[in-house]
Amino acid sequence: MDDSYNISQLSLLKTVNQTLKDSLRFRPAISFEDWATRYIINPDGTPFRFRETQVQIARDLFNPSLTSVAIRAFSGAGKTYLFAAGLCYVVEQLRTAAGVMFPSQSIAEDWVNEELYKMFLATPAIEKMEMETDLKRLKRWNSGAAIHAIGSNSSGMIRRLQAPVLYADEIDAITQETTDEGDKLAQFFKRARGEKNQYKWASSYPSLKGHSKIDAMFDQSDQCRWFVTCPKCEHEWEMQIKDLQWKTGEPESAVIVCPSCGERHDDQSRLAMAKGGRFLDKTLSEPRDSGERGFHLNCLANVGDHSAAYNGYLHEIAAEIERGKKADSPEKAKRVFVNTMLAESYAEQVESKPEPHVLYARREEYNPGEMLPADVLMLTAGVDWQKNRCELIVMGWGDNAESWGVAYKTILGSPMELSTWQKLDKELSKRYAHPIAGSLGIVCTMIDSGKWQDAVLAQTHMRTRQRVYGCKGARTIDRVLMDNKPTRIGAAKILQYHIGTHEAKETIYSRLDLQPDEAGKSHPRGFIHFPKTAEFGPSAGGEATGFFEMLLAEDSVIRRSSKTGEFVRFFECQRGQRNEALDCMVYAMAAERRMSPKYEEIARNMLK
Ligand SMILES: [Zn+2]
Repeated sequence: MDDSYNISQLSLLKTVNQTLKDSLRFRPAISFEDWATRYIINPDGTPFRFRETQVQIARDLFNPSLTSVAIRAFSGAGKTYLFAAGLCYVVEQLRTAAGVMFPSQSIAEDWVNEELYKMFLATPAIEKMEMETDLKRLKRWNSGAAIHAIGSNSSGMIRRLQAPVLYADEIDAITQETTDEGDKLAQFFKRARGEKNQYKWASSYPSLKGHSKIDAMFDQSDQCRWFVTCPKCEHEWEMQIKDLQWKTGEPESAVIVCPSCGERHDDQSRLAMAKGGRFLDKTLSEPRDSGERGFHLNCLANVGDHSAAYNGYLHEIAAEIERGKKADSPEKAKRVFVNTMLAESYAEQVESKPEPHVLYARREEYNPGEMLPADVLMLTAGVDWQKNRCELIVMGWGDNAESWGVAYKTILGSPMELSTWQKLDKELSKRYAHPIAGSLGIVCTMIDSGKWQDAVLAQTHMRTRQRVYGCKGARTIDRVLMDNKPTRIGAAKILQYHIGTHEAKETIYSRLDLQPDEAGKSHPRGFIHFPKTAEFGPSAGGEATGFFEMLLAEDSVIRRSSKTGEFVRFFECQRGQRNEALDCMVYAMAAERRMSPKYEEIARNMLK
């Protein structure tokens, strides 16, 4: 038969075929919502179901009349599954190419090869499709479907991409270098240029106010939020964290209060309201079929499960807020909660730090050289080396994260000289009188081994049995205060701990800013006490407030971690400023963490 066609007929046939293919490609017989619930199987073997809060979003992901869809949702909203399901539809029904962009190439590949691929394998309709290419960064099927995994740090790959479906996740963690040409997200979204139907999706937890890409997209959109109806008064509103009420210390009593009639809704009632909710845009009408779509969901709209450790989701949320207030750095805990649970950007708090003379004037009437306060349950020490001396702080620790300044010494001599270490030994082996225990000794000491590493580690090695360890401030800003994973240095395998100095300093500065009650009788969690002794006055740093000048020498700014994308406080010491007291306290705090003591038990044993 073919023989009877001439060339032009053949090329015409080809064109017709291609047009047919193209029209088929973008006109699937079945909608995403119907297809997903009928064909997708979750990796755990259960059939895929949309949550009530996902139905409208699912419809809009494949609505070619919308320019883009941005989702700003709490952690646990199930958006990963939703996007994975959307890409399943792209592969099996649209049979076209999709670009998946994450902040880095490795995160993108991990997501495609783990999260997404699991769903591909579990879903028979996709699993049976014949693959042409199965690389970590590219999956391609014979049908023409393809998934490209792309890191926003790889502008070459972005430039080479051409796909009608573009999905960018964690967009607030995209780091923009000053050398970058243009906005990476904008460049990525240009890669659908020329396609008849274009689908552009973006999602992220927000970051800092004024720096958030997802905020910028949401603000430009029609701003749909999840509205629920109070069954008592029929008021329709978006449940917010200010509507959440509970008695302090009793998170299980948490309820949602209707702002119109005051009805107190328990978690069951909240769940029922959330399930019956709907998205309304910024004009409080149902979203229209055009323009840029934005969805916002905070955690109170959760229609999924709660952790089995709580009797309801409201209990879980209230408990998390209470835990955050007790955290070592409440500001950091709050930042994470606001970003991941409220799905809002965080307004950076201006660092507040007390004045040295205020702390000096607040010193208390106790003399640790004679008798420790009864609430002190454990002692640790921190040592900072300079070339002609070391400085040492001894801190007392107790329940409720309270701590006490016990001693601050300057020992003259170099870290290379044995005589200096002998003088230090004398201080570290000192016992302090205690009203209940009789006396307490220092249980753990962290010594700065950053500068004279070999000399210091050779000495700490001989004192391992007294729990005297070398330590080094980590340069990375997102390092945790104490991960208890020391490295082993040299042939002797000497322990050296790495300390998250930025986290430690954020903790110390926020604690120094705490206020006792007016009578000075009760103290908030984490309060740091200092005694009226010369060591915390004139004998440290030369002048009366010298110790506190050193303690408060550093300033901080909020910086973004290039690794996690998280915002963290970054501390800097001005050139020439003395800050040994602060460094010593960081090390003493790390020593306390290293012990991870159970204070209740220690207190009980003391009384025996
Ligand atoms: Zn009401």
